This record gives sequence, structure tokens and C-alpha cells, in this order.
Amino acid sequence: MTRSQQVARPVAVLRGTPAVPGVAAAPAIRPGPRMPVDIRTDLVAESDRASELESLRSASDVVARRLRARAGRASGAAAEVLAANAAMAADRGWLAAAEELIAVGRPATVAAGAATDRFADMFTKLGGLMAERVTDLRDVCDRVVAELAGAPEPGIPTPAEPSILLADDLAPADTAGLDPELVVGLATSLGGPTSHTAIIARQLGIPCVVAVAGLDEIPAGADILVDGSAGTVMVAPDPDMASHAVAEYRAVTARNAAWNGPGSTADGHRVEVLANVQDGAGARAARHTQAEGIGLFRTELCFLDRESEPSIDEQTRIYGEVLDAYPDAKVVIRTLDAGSDKPLRFAQHPDEANPALGVRGIRIATRDNGILDRQLDAIAAAAAARGRVPLVMAPMIATAAEARWFATRVRARDLIPGVMIEVPAAALLAETILRDVDFLSIGTNDLTQYTMAADRMSPELATLTDPWQPAVLALVARTAAAGTALGKPVGVCGEAAADPLLACVLAGFGITSLSAAASAIAAVGATLSSVTLDDCRRAATAVLSTAAPDEARAAARSILPHV
Ligand code: PEP
Ligand code: MG
Repeated sequence: MTRSQQVARPVAVLRGTPAVPGVAAAPAIRPGPRMPVDIRTDLVAESDRASELESLRSASDVVARRLRARAGRASGAAAEVLAANAAMAADRGWLAAAEELIAVGRPATVAAGAATDRFADMFTKLGGLMAERVTDLRDVCDRVVAELAGAPEPGIPTPAEPSILLADDLAPADTAGLDPELVVGLATSLGGPTSHTAIIARQLGIPCVVAVAGLDEIPAGADILVDGSAGTVMVAPDPDMASHAVAEYRAVTARNAAWNGPGSTADGHRVEVLANVQDGAGARAARHTQAEGIGLFRTELCFLDRESEPSIDEQTRIYGEVLDAYPDAKVVIRTLDAGSDKPLRFAQHPDEANPALGVRGIRIATRDNGILDRQLDAIAAAAAARGRVPLVMAPMIATAAEARWFATRVRARDLIPGVMIEVPAAALLAETILRDVDFLSIGTNDLTQYTMAADRMSPELATLTDPWQPAVLALVARTAAAGTALGKPVGVCGEAAADPLLACVLAGFGITSLSAAASAIAAVGATLSSVTLDDCRRAATAVLSTAAPDEARAAARSILPHV
């Protein structure tokens, strides 16, 4: 009897949010249970409170040291996440909150849990990236509580054969320790695509789907097919179909690896394939792909931890590093997109109830143009020192007047001005705006968020924040048409450009460049090289008459069945 017969379940397809592409088929495993929450209400005698306090400090110290040691053994994102969790275990604010409770007689385990609840509540209310850190916080607490109780560290079993790990959410400390040879797929019922679980799974190359509805129902041992690109988890799939899906995915991966650029359709229509980067190191890493240049340099990400504005000299050096990584190619530098989920302390954001709709991106410059002017001076200095003329674009443009104001400042420094189309108002007026600038770049992440009025960080709203939403596609098509009408380039640099099927549709709309994370370059370029411009145009026309993201995908797939 096969395992899927043993669990005797009909084939079911659960849907979640795609987090790490890839296809894997294997039996499910689940993490072991955590320590139950300690809810004792009896108070610790006054004479024992000092030692209770001492136990908490030493347990948190042990946990912090263990996590630091693991960070030392890991690399990349995994090391960063483990180091951040070690810092959480030793966090003075968290310890102080727990110590206050111990001082009034609560046992250390109860105090640790209650202090964690308080912080988790605060993070949840803050939303976005902070809310996605709640899993990290609870995991650190569970480790401290286990240490206090003298229990083994909570965690994931090491499977004896390749398996797919299913969980509510995974602690970063657990994800970072996964062996991709044994844990070949991941699915969680919580978490977003930017949660630490997803970030580490991406680094380890483990296909992953997050926010999967109904995942709790699947028992350990059930046969599973995870598709991290489609965002599906299939229970008890037909074994032949499952192995075919895995083999097909491997074949596509091999085809992608063999693609060697530059970007064009099978019949030779050029579409530049570019990389999104956040600093010089990222730009140098992009050189290992077939990216022809940089389509989006997110400058604000260089300065997230700064109290004060970096000097013009320092900025000149940083921007120069990115130009040097691509000495003979196109580089598009975006001016600071500070605010909302990427606040910069030196930008002095006002206290706002709704920062995503507040003073962010170019709006900071219209309040105080000093920061923008100094940044443009630094870009101009880096460019002049190398005899280069980079393209410079502004984020969050909403009006033609903002675009014109920005373009004047950019041209005054002999740089090439463009703007991002991220606000529906700008997409609707794309042709008017494009008359004043040399190019447009569509930020589909924000364009989707603002078109659908749905927070891009919310896992609950993942269906709304899908760039295949026909309303978003209509705005993208309209923006691309403005470029065609005026003979000027219009690119896409949001996540939509990283989806190979959508990339073909975008090319069909008339988009002239696709800029994506380095990890997506090969798939996008190879896919584009396998289709004709005519098919892309037919797919583009077809998606515009659909009413929902799934319909749009199906319409494109029916015209481009091999993508
Ligand atoms: C976008 O909004 O699509 C974009 C590329 O900008 P960011 O993701 O940095 O907001
Ligand atoms: Mg944006």
C-alpha cells in the first residue's frame, strides 16, 4: 500500500502565496510540539524572586549565545537573520518587561511569555515588516522557556528521507538549519513572501509556499506536491503526474541555465533584461547573471540604518560602485524612496496615521529639496568621474507637475530623467508625463498596492496584491502604450517583471525592458527567447478582457502553453 493510500485522502489543491519558485514531491513532515504556554497564577515567594530573575537572565543569555554561534556557522541571509534573533534574545526592552513581572511575583516562564505577548501585539499593530517578525519573537521566547524548564531546544525533526516540511510558520533559527537535500519543499499556513522563512528558503533554494489556507488539515506522512511558482500544495497527487511535474521543472531550470542573453523574443524583438540591486555588492553579483545592466538601483536601501544623511562624498562613492559594476551598460538609479515600509531617520518623516499614503518618495523632496539636490549632486559627481550619463528616476510620482519639476533638476546636472509609474493617477496620465521625461519605469509592486487599495505586505490580501489583477494590467498596458506613441522606453521594475509568463505579456504590451532580482533573470530571459512577439501580443490582448487574476493567467497560458 502506498503512503497516499494509507492516509486515504482525495487529491486536494490548497492555495497560498508563491514565495520561492521550484517544484518538489515528497511525504510531509511536521515540526514537533512546542512547550505549552505557562499560565500559572500562583506567585513566587518574595525571597525566591532574585533567583527567578537570575534564571531568566541566564536562559536568555544561553539562547542568545546559541543563536550567535549558529549565525557564525551560517552565511548570507541566514546568518543575518540568526544574528538578529540572537539580538532579540538579549533585547533589553524585552528583558526589562519580563523582569518587571518577575519583580511582582510571576514565575520566569510566565513573565517571558507575557512580555513576548506585549511585544508581539505591538509588532502586529505596526503591521508590514514588523508584523512578520512576530514569528521570530515567539520562537526566541519558546527557546528561552524551554531553557528555563530544562527541556530540549524546540525544533524540526531531521527526516530520514527527502520530505516536505509543513508548519504554521517556521522559526528563522529552524529554517536556517534546514538541509535542502532532506527538506526539499516548504509550506506554511502563516507568513508572507518577505517573512524570514521565505528569505532563508530562497537562499537555500527550497521551493516554498506561504499563507496556505487549510494546511493544518494535512497530516504528517501524506504525499505532497509543492509548486513554489504557482503557490499550490497538492495533497495525494497522482504519483506519475507528480514525478512528471518535478522532471519538467528540472528541464526548465536546465534551459534557463543555458540561456546567455541578451533579452529578445524568439523572432528577435529586443526587450532588455536588467537587474534590480541595492548596492555595489548586489550590482557585482548581478554580473554573474545575463543581466544587461541595472534597471533599478534602490538607493534608499543603502541608508536604512543611518541616523544622519550620508555626505555627498560618501554617496558619490556608493553610486560609483554600482556604475563600476556595469562600466559599459545601462544603469538606472532611483532617488531615495524613503517612507512607508522603508523609513529613513534622516528624512524626518512626519508622524502619520497612514504612511503608505503619506509623505514618501518624491514627496519628501517637495517638502525639502535639499536631500534630493545633494543626492543628484552625488550621482552627477560619480557619473562625471567616469564619463558616464546614467538614467535617474524618481519614485512615487503622482502628477505631471512633479515629473516636470524632477526632470528639470536632473537635466540641470546633465543626467537623463525618468519617473516611476507606481500611482494609478500617474499611469492614467502616462502620456502627458512622458512628454517631460525620457523614460518611464513601472513599479508594479506599488502600482498594484495603490490600484487595489491593498497593503502589499499583507498576506491576507495576497489575492488583491497580485499583479495579474486585470485592473493593474490595464494600467500597465496604458502606460506601455504611451511609450509606443511617443517612441520612448517604458520598462517594468516591480516583481511582475520576475514572473516569466507575465514578462511575455508585458513584452506584448510594448514594454521595452524588464528589471528583476538577479535570481529571476535567467528564467525571464530564457522564457522570452522561447516565444514570438506575435504570441506575446496575442496574450497581452487576451488578458485585457479577463475579470480575475486566475482568468488572466489562464488566458495567457492558453496562448503560450509552453511557458
Ligand atoms: C515597485 O513599487 O514596484 C518598486 C519597484 O519599488 P519598491 O518595490 O522599491 O517600492
Ligand atoms: Mg515602489
